[in-house]
Amino acid sequence: MKILITGGAGFIGSHLTERLLGEGHSVMVLDNFHTGSKDNILHLLDDNRLEVIRHDVIDPYRLEVDYIYNLACPASPIHYQRNPVKTVLTNVMGAINALNLAKDIKARVLQASTSEVYGDPEMHPQPERYWGNVNCIGPRSCYDEGKRVAETLMVDYYRENQVDIRIARIFNTYGPRMRPDDGRVVSNFILQALRGEPITIFGDGSQTRSFCFVQNLIDGLIRFMEQEETIGPMNLGNPDERSIKDIAELVIKLTDSSSKIVYKPLPKDDPTRRRPDISQARDVLNWQPAISLEEGLPQTIEYFRPLARRHGAPAKMPR
Ligand code: NAD
Ligand code: UDP
Repeated sequence: MKILITGGAGFIGSHLTERLLGEGHSVMVLDNFHTGSKDNILHLLDDNRLEVIRHDVIDPYRLEVDYIYNLACPASPIHYQRNPVKTVLTNVMGAINALNLAKDIKARVLQASTSEVYGDPEMHPQPERYWGNVNCIGPRSCYDEGKRVAETLMVDYYRENQVDIRIARIFNTYGPRMRPDDGRVVSNFILQALRGEPITIFGDGSQTRSFCFVQNLIDGLIRFMEQEETIGPMNLGNPDERSIKDIAELVIKLTDSSSKIVYKPLPKDDPTRRRPDISQARDVLNWQPAISLEEGLPQTIEYFRPLARRHGAPAKMPR
């Protein structure tokens, strides 16, 4: 198959590129390198089934492919809040351009949506039927609402133009190739622990997230793309819910660090809890994450170990 991955030079996109090439497909990576990097796919560049195109998904593009994974969008709060209007445009125009292409060439298109469509959820765990609790004027809205509109566009193109869509709602994912300056909790805590610096918990650390190792997420994305039973939306994530304080303590233990925990203000609209209901993925895809946090974190720590010596302090949230 010929497969296009927008955002293919990013954290998740680079793992997907690697996996699909490994399965024998031809892959086109289309990326503007805003938060992604050629370094993430450098080891794949010798493969002549890989093409890399520098392009912004806000502008239309034309390629001949069978499948489109539309991943292009900064995923970490620090990066998507830095230029919020651009984040909205990337989500909305990015979805329209991917859908127009899919419509013209009769390709299947998968949208990387997010657990953020549930906002600060009042239903727990979150099933796909839950409509969410999202602030449309907060600092996270450019991302949350952008992703919600992208889902709307997907379903409208499906209803009006019979475009073959898939909507994946991805929950917090971690692993090698996360950006050291992404400000995300896993990368921040690991870097702080490796450097013996204070571990910065925002709020009291009782807020929860559920973390999926990237390789497991890739399995789920590919299974979802390849099945014919449902267009989604489909939750993909690890239902193993942990408090942020637990994550801090686990990272300290796994790195054998002398770091102490410090408490900082909680960013506005930070969701208090998040856990996917993955019954649908279990039933339809026969999928569930196999790698526990206790197995996935050490691999991520090894990835960050050399970087901890090179890069400066982890990123801070804009307040
Ligand atoms: P990332 O920031 O590492 O990757 C995003 C990629 O998109 C980067 O390579 C970036 O350069 C590219 N990009 C951004 N804007 C672009 C534009 N306008 N045109 C072309 N390329 C552009 O993020 P990620 O963690 O790999 O996330 C990938 C996708 O998965 C995103 O759509 C994100 O919203 C979604 N997602 C990620 C998570 C997570 O925990 N990482 C959770 C839910 C959803
Ligand atoms: N967080 C934290 N310290 C950090 C970075 C993040 O306590 O150094 C918290 C953050 O406030 C949130 C959780 O960890 O409650 C997950 O943050 P992340 O940005 O990784 O993901 P998201 O909030 O988008 O789920």
